Amino acid sequence: MINDKLINPGSIAVVGGSEDILKPGGKILKNIIDGGFSGDLFAVNPGKDSIQGVKSYRDITDIPPVDLAILAIPSKYCYKVVEVLIKEKSTRAFIIISAGFSEAGEEGKKLERNIAGLVGNAGGCLIGPNCIGIVTHTYHGVFTTPVPKLSERGCDFVSGSGATAMFIIESALPKGLRFSSVFSVGNSAQTGVEEVLEYWDITYDPEKSSPIKLIYVETIPNPDKLLHHASSLIRKGCRIAAIKAGSTGAGSRAASSHTGAIATSDSAVEALFRKAGIVRCAGREELTTVASVFMHKPLKGRNMAIITHAGGPAVMLTDALSAGGMNIPGIPEIDQAKILGMMNPGASAVNPIDMIATATLEQLDSVIDYVDRNLDMIDGMSVIFGNNGLTDMTRVYELLHRKIIGCDKPLYPILPSISSSHEELENFMNKGHVNFPDEVMLGEALTKISNTPNPAEEEIFLENVDVPQIRKIIVGCSGGYLEPSVIQELLRAANIPVVREAVAVTRDEIISVASQMGYPLVLKVVGPVHKSDVGGVTLNIRSQEHLEAEFTRMKNIEGTTGVMVQEMLSGTELFIGAKYEPRFGHIIICGLGGIFVEVLGDISSGLAPLTFSEAGSMIRSLRAYPIIKGTRGKPGIDESKYAGIIVRLSSLLRFATEIKEMDLNPLIGSQKSITVVDARIRIEK
Ligand code: ADP
Ligand code: MG
Repeated sequence: MINDKLINPGSIAVVGGSEDILKPGGKILKNIIDGGFSGDLFAVNPGKDSIQGVKSYRDITDIPPVDLAILAIPSKYCYKVVEVLIKEKSTRAFIIISAGFSEAGEEGKKLERNIAGLVGNAGGCLIGPNCIGIVTHTYHGVFTTPVPKLSERGCDFVSGSGATAMFIIESALPKGLRFSSVFSVGNSAQTGVEEVLEYWDITYDPEKSSPIKLIYVETIPNPDKLLHHASSLIRKGCRIAAIKAGSTGAGSRAASSHTGAIATSDSAVEALFRKAGIVRCAGREELTTVASVFMHKPLKGRNMAIITHAGGPAVMLTDALSAGGMNIPGIPEIDQAKILGMMNPGASAVNPIDMIATATLEQLDSVIDYVDRNLDMIDGMSVIFGNNGLTDMTRVYELLHRKIIGCDKPLYPILPSISSSHEELENFMNKGHVNFPDEVMLGEALTKISNTPNPAEEEIFLENVDVPQIRKIIVGCSGGYLEPSVIQELLRAANIPVVREAVAVTRDEIISVASQMGYPLVLKVVGPVHKSDVGGVTLNIRSQEHLEAEFTRMKNIEGTTGVMVQEMLSGTELFIGAKYEPRFGHIIICGLGGIFVEVLGDISSGLAPLTFSEAGSMIRSLRAYPIIKGTRGKPGIDESKYAGIIVRLSSLLRFATEIKEMDLNPLIGSQKSITVVDARIRIEK
């Protein structure tokens, strides 16, 4: 557990401290000295009495008691040193920079576990091994550069990779983004990304803590912990953005179900972040741009005004915002007339408000004020202003500095002249501001944030879900694919509508059930898993003659144990799938049914159990959502029914972890009903 000795040590020993600043032990000492650490600082080095101007001890046993030890020595010496520090020097915080542990093989793994055990048993905190260190307000305990600018309200940042942490900081600095702390957790022997989040959550103080948290993570060994603390922090008012690297679907190749093929283990991460309310970013630039948006006042809606003196970037920003579902609403004519009166002839006040290249500072000033004070339908402004060669950029940035602070609405500055007005821009950022050098990056970040739902409630909906019946069915069946009749029972226990169907083995049986149901009908083989692939589905059977012919043909398909008759339905085909992901639980995915789903990959994922609002947001975030709503004269489907089925299915799964894969593909939906016509469920016991 992270402790105060790690964050605010009164004394630090750099074990392996060196005169050579091209070595980790030399550089970390230098960074701590340059960072102005005010406590006691010393080194341990067998050959020296003084290093870089600080006292050095030749042996670990010679040093005075110390709060924090930073180890930059070969891995094989680490255990002994930690032992002495714990037993004799009251040390309870350790950062092990050294590599050569679990990343290097079995022996390293054992050593790492032993050291973590030693520290843990003493109630101490261990960061690393194999990390670049940490940066807090008291000391700069990293051996890398750049050490970011620190500010109380900057971002708290935790990274599972040291090198990537540096590159993320490199991406942040030119934008003016600041940090409040940086944690590189390396091999996470004791403290991983989840534990850092836990620490932030437990110690969160709305007056003092940074409300912005950034995460770079490669593996999530404890998804529940991450979910719990991330959503808790967001509920307390924090904003969290994260990169989870390793998003390709290699893991899913062996899956036999449709869901297995499209729900990669990345869908689990996607679902987890969605549930927690974390804004998921694909790369470093996106992460630091999202973080820069977080530095502004909160954007309360989706309506943006763009104020510019250049047409092109305003159009690109408009496109990026619209593509992500945000609006650039037209400005009412009365207001347009007033705004036009403030600008040069030839300017446009429709939105984007194009002040044209000759715009003056005074014009910019009054237009911003007008939009902020008089246009209620606008939630946020973005101002594009580059060096037009005619304006004193210092004054432009000075004006924006005042407006960003003074305006009620968030104002995002797009200041592209990072080269020609470099110094002026630097001064602007030094006042605590960030810059968005690229309008499309800003547009994408804003839409990504506005499309990230709030953390989900921790509820489970059991209305109309018969849990004892579900358990009875699951306990009573053996492993493998479930029989059609069992599937029917199970889905009915969760109140999920299933098509009328019956299985027949003889010709007489099939004729009798068909006449009870009435034509048109659908015939399907029972036995083969992928029925269409073996010619085992015939739609639209309208006569007994056709029925008998198809029955005879299907009976002869290899692996067939019977033939199923179903009512023939019409409507929009939908899909719901579920997959059990170890550690995460059931991932539920939804989308349109049909053969193109896999190619287009237009699915949303959620983590069971799901609430109605989560299911609704999954449905709305599909690209195919307009089809679900109804498009071009084609009626849509009942969205709330679809959401209800997703919710009840997720509740069913919560009580049936034996279900490893499930495909409901398709469900046939209309405005009146949504009905499952094909379901596959695989159980492992
Ligand atoms: P499989 O997925 O094993 O190939 P399905 O039962 O999903 O078999 O049937 C294949 C396709 O036939 C479905 O995707 C759907 O388009 C159509 N279909 C199946 N059952 C019905 C039905 N009862 N009413 C209307 N169309 C159906
Ligand atoms: Mg199917």
